[in-house]
Amino acid sequence: MKYVSTRGAAPAVDFEGALLAGLAPDGGLYMPEGWPVFSVQEARAIGSLPYAEAAAEILSHFAGESFDKADIAKMTAEAYATFADKDVAPVVPLGGEDYMLELFHGPTLAFKDFAMQILGRLYDAALERRDERRTIIVATSGDTGSAAIEALKSCLRVNVAVLFPEGRVSAVQQRMMTSVIAPNVMNVAVKGSFDDCQAIVKTLFADEAFSRGVRLSGVNSINWARLAAQTVYYFTAWARLAESGEAVNFVVPTGNFGDVFAGYAAKRMGLPIVKLGVAANANDILHRAIAQGDYTPGAVKPTASPSMDIQVASNFERLLFEAKHRDAKALRAAMEDFAKARAMKLDEETLAAIRDDFVSDAVSMEETLAEIKRHYEETGALIDPHTAVGRAAARRLRQMGALEGKIVTLSTAHPAKFPEAVKEATGQTPALPAAYADLFERPEKMEHAPAEPDAVKALMRSAFGT
Ligand SMILES: *Cc1c(COP(=O)(O)O)cnc(C)c1O
Repeated sequence: MKYVSTRGAAPAVDFEGALLAGLAPDGGLYMPEGWPVFSVQEARAIGSLPYAEAAAEILSHFAGESFDKADIAKMTAEAYATFADKDVAPVVPLGGEDYMLELFHGPTLAFKDFAMQILGRLYDAALERRDERRTIIVATSGDTGSAAIEALKSCLRVNVAVLFPEGRVSAVQQRMMTSVIAPNVMNVAVKGSFDDCQAIVKTLFADEAFSRGVRLSGVNSINWARLAAQTVYYFTAWARLAESGEAVNFVVPTGNFGDVFAGYAAKRMGLPIVKLGVAANANDILHRAIAQGDYTPGAVKPTASPSMDIQVASNFERLLFEAKHRDAKALRAAMEDFAKARAMKLDEETLAAIRDDFVSDAVSMEETLAEIKRHYEETGALIDPHTAVGRAAARRLRQMGALEGKIVTLSTAHPAKFPEAVKEATGQTPALPAAYADLFERPEKMEHAPAEPDAVKALMRSAFGT
């Protein structure tokens, strides 16, 4: 399978090329040149396999020309053996036709582990055979950073620099990153928002001399390999619920549009999905885009669900590419206009195409906290604020008649990763799993930088000697 850029001005690459590059050289995002398509029977057969085997099956369709299926199967077996739940991604009934897909049983307690654990292994294998080193730069709103560090800290051929917005990640999120002290890992607390961090990463990639010099690679959710890995839990969840092969809905707490785009990819691959619900927090650009056709970023508002405090959702470009029938030239023009105007109005045709597959809602801070409380009172279980945004949106979308039938809400993080919000809502402090019992006694190490690319460049040069 080849991968093409959404902006049409970069050569097609193979899976390994897309994996190591992250962003395409023309500023676009890589997309598979076509979708592997499964029948409902095949989808059921794959989704019913043990998780690691389902992952190997699906990934081999995307990566088969770059990696042997047997090697992929070995990597997925190792990657998902790090998860604490034997089902890896268990589906929990909530009563009626509501379900929760728990994606927080990985080593850093958020769904980012699903992609990162496999990505680290793919990187190792690719760099080993190419006899190369890479520097990976990650902008994180909290969870990607810890998942990347955990997956890459023992990779001998990789340096990792993680940029996070200072004071805008939870204490547990920060500690999970800064307590990993390794010569190939650097954490940078940036004075700014996640969007500032993401903008610095984009600038460094565009700086050819620097990016060639340090052999820069990206593992943000713009990296296709991550989305490919995230399609798998849609298959396994569906196979568990759809006894008669019926289509179900998924509601996804959304920030950078990666996770929900993986659901869209699964739908394009033949998985019976009625609708995908985009659940935004107070940073509601994606809800405005889908409901009103208005893709205009505002200022980032800090919320109780910081991993979704994002205004410019990188992966939305992938959806626009599909909605515009892969007209890369039109998309390139639209993205260039967007970069100048900081605003985009979606035309009726694009909007209609998007609404075939998506519905959306935005959930305020008060509603998020009220949802955590309601869930606790009704089920006795604590949920994290990102999951609560998803559940609140799922309930409202059902009430409005926008979603009917089975709804699976993705539970994206363990409540103990966001104890402040959970305590505020319920009075309860969720316990960290035993592996993290001493998290707050571990030493921390981090650098500080203003939101300026040059400052980050200087830190990277001195940390990694490049
Ligand atoms: C990253 C993250 C999200 C948002 O996912 P996207 O792929 O960026 O849309 C939601 N919840 C949690 C807990 C996250 O870590």
